[in-house]
Amino acid sequence: MTGTPGRPDRVVLMNPGPVNVHDRVRAALAGPDECHREPESQALLGTVGGKVTKVCGGGLDSHATVLFTGSGTAALEAVVSSVVPAGGRLLVIDNGHYGERLLRISNVHGIASVRLEFGWATPLDLDAVDHALSADAGITHVAVVHHETSTGMLNPLRELGALVARHGRSLIVDAISSLGAEDLDVVRDHVDWCVGTANKCLEGMPGISFVCAPRERLEGLADVAARTFYLDLSANYRAQVLKGSPQFTPAVQVLRALDAALDLALAEGVPARTARYAARAAEIRAGLEVRGIELLLPPEQRAGSITNAHLSNGMTYDELHDGLKEHGYVIYATQEKSAGVFRLANMGQLTSDDIAGFFRAFDEVVAPVSAPASLIPAVEKRDGAVSR
Ligand SMILES: *Cc1c(COP(=O)(O)O)cnc(C)c1O
Repeated sequence: MTGTPGRPDRVVLMNPGPVNVHDRVRAALAGPDECHREPESQALLGTVGGKVTKVCGGGLDSHATVLFTGSGTAALEAVVSSVVPAGGRLLVIDNGHYGERLLRISNVHGIASVRLEFGWATPLDLDAVDHALSADAGITHVAVVHHETSTGMLNPLRELGALVARHGRSLIVDAISSLGAEDLDVVRDHVDWCVGTANKCLEGMPGISFVCAPRERLEGLADVAARTFYLDLSANYRAQVLKGSPQFTPAVQVLRALDAALDLALAEGVPARTARYAARAAEIRAGLEVRGIELLLPPEQRAGSITNAHLSNGMTYDELHDGLKEHGYVIYATQEKSAGVFRLANMGQLTSDDIAGFFRAFDEVVAPVSAPASLIPAVEKRDGAVSR
């Protein structure tokens, strides 16, 4: 161990991605310089795509993965803007910040949509989805967030997928913060468009996102007019998957890191990673509860990689964040509609020792603030509004 005693030997990231990565992932970034049009670089796209398809539960013959250089939202926007035809309509299931983002993307592209809003931290009502689909035969596509990262709620993908399939509509899933660490199978769950990213539960570096879909669906996109140039899913599919050559310059080194991260993910296996994350989350939740801190969701609604908790002791988020950061721990705010709540994610290479160290720091930071006001040292405020 190096560094100051009592401090972690690296900054411990408890934000929902980017995450602390394995050394092999970081090392992969520092490979040789390369040209993306050379065969070995072009082959990397197919290799990474195949491994992503595997993690999604797709078959290599039946499914394909299209990679985008851009954060998770790039791949989301590629799907939403590329798959709904001019005469189609998108049902957006919204129970948090990222559900709302799906709607905003579809609005930007002038796509006809229906919003089914349940409210933040409110579970989906599958009967309401059933009714919405029965009531409107014009709805061609349904979009949902699997793990609604803003509240830490895991939405019931398996049941929803069966329902949407029963109605014969096409399902778009934002699996950006679930893929790799939650139970998801694009075949079993009837997911047509599965969107993910490199830097959350897959534990890669930020900069690459992707869409896994049945090849048949990807072929069908040839009939839908493109709404964007760069994020045209059909054109990117034809170039990358059919011709084996990227349409544009991909972030090759970030892809190398993702390739290493996927090897680690496949070797560990999704069930083992789910269990590893669950163990870290249990340590976090127990640590908060023993300190009398109230958690946002009941246990059965929680995803395995985030815990949302209410601020206590009269502390502001900024005070808690800044105090913990001085000790080497990065926590995360919530978006606008859940003020008074902070988030602790346990994505990435975190150990039990990291969580124990976090709570030692937490006690040091929180104790002075819960002391009488006259003893509280002045804390410089920073402009800490998070707007993601
Ligand atoms: C992180 C996240 C995104 C995408 O965010 P980017 O900053 O574009 O990577 C989208 N949806 C969900 C559910 C997320 O957690």
